Amino acid sequence: MTTSIDTATLRQLDQSHHLHPFTDFGNYARDGGRIISRAEHIYIYDSDGNAMLDGMSGLWCCNLGYSQKAIVEAVYHQMQELPYYNNFFRCSNQPAVELASQLARLSPADFNHVFFTNSGSEANDTNIRLVHRYYDLLGKPEKKQIISRKNAYHGSTIAASSLGGMQAMHDQAIGLDYVHHINQPHWFELGGDRSPDEFGIAVARELETKIDELGEERVAAFIAEPIQGAGGVIIPPDTYWPEVQRICDERDILLIADEVICGFGRTGTWWGSETYGIRPHLMTFAKAITNGYMPLGGVLVSDTLSDVLLGSGGEFTHGLTYSGHPASCAAGLATLGILEETGIIDSAARDIAPHFQRRLREFIDHPIVGEVRGRGMFAAVELVRDKGSRERLAAKSAGAVYCRDQANNNGLMVRQTGDAMITAPPLVCSIEEIDILADKLGQALDATASHYGIGG
Ligand code: PMP
Repeated sequence: MTTSIDTATLRQLDQSHHLHPFTDFGNYARDGGRIISRAEHIYIYDSDGNAMLDGMSGLWCCNLGYSQKAIVEAVYHQMQELPYYNNFFRCSNQPAVELASQLARLSPADFNHVFFTNSGSEANDTNIRLVHRYYDLLGKPEKKQIISRKNAYHGSTIAASSLGGMQAMHDQAIGLDYVHHINQPHWFELGGDRSPDEFGIAVARELETKIDELGEERVAAFIAEPIQGAGGVIIPPDTYWPEVQRICDERDILLIADEVICGFGRTGTWWGSETYGIRPHLMTFAKAITNGYMPLGGVLVSDTLSDVLLGSGGEFTHGLTYSGHPASCAAGLATLGILEETGIIDSAARDIAPHFQRRLREFIDHPIVGEVRGRGMFAAVELVRDKGSRERLAAKSAGAVYCRDQANNNGLMVRQTGDAMITAPPLVCSIEEIDILADKLGQALDATASHYGIGG
């Protein structure tokens, strides 16, 4: 047990020694942050005792909230039995074996193999290695180019951030020269006068154009999230994925679905690919596989690749000390067990998600809301100054930052991405808890409107 340290000391030590992810270091060292000290069900508590309804499921990972004892006990038991052993050198362990076979059972029929990592970033690095190895083994070593999308988030390692399309990340690291980015299916931002359906087709066809530009014989894969999450819950128009699928089917291009956020129920089905009828060749997973309780990620590999990777022999020169960590895999197994036994994915899709989407869509009448979009258990609310022209509320996303701070200070954890408010609550929320979330978000929108002098 760690001994308890008073909040003032913790804050001071945090500011003095701890560098935080995606944070302005100098600013944090000066102003500090919030120490989260415990959590229960869908609430997090800071060290001052303030409760917050967690409208982000941690970082899109605690889909079952914070009180899943079965996962804790599975990890505890596994740590006593076998706290660690690696999966190199012809060794394996029961939780890793079981989890791989359960994932094969729960994924589309042509997915029968799993490579484990600790995180989504490493899983996307692994995707590149797998794709390149696949085409090398097929005797097509020139097929190395990968197409992704602007504003995508696929992780923070050099390879994963190259796959991603976040300009601010590219500005701080020299990325891979074989990754190329096309536009995202973000109708509100880019659609202009076109209907969502027209825009969906046009933006999907950018993939075809990019393949032609690079040469099909050089392009290995296209990677995308079924719904772009961290980029701002970008819900693609209905026409988008069928057109992307057509292009991938007609060309010799592998399709990688990054399911790190969409997987395990977020979109209303087990996989975002299932929700959109996408037929990928590789699926990246992480986050909710352990309900966020232990670090674990990986790649689900379809038979298209595994037939070649297993059949052609030779070593795949890639692996991580903690690939298939027994305690993480035990957490994964326990999480899958809860998802299946409770039927929560179906019941949340049937009972909770429609209420969540309905409540948030009511904000479309709010004077500073330009669009509400969402699917299943995540949504985005775009803030504007002028609904017609879609003029933003304030420069540099300041309006959404203000709104987020209002919500946070009023006991609701939501996030701001660009000019949108983002929420992705746990699937275990009740109707009443969704109402609390929506009410608090509404109060933050009201406060923001009045701060900018808009509306009544
Ligand atoms: N892919 C997607 C779609 C993600 O949202 C994230 C994390 N937000 C990652 C990959 C990276 O996962 P990790 O942070 O576990 O490396």
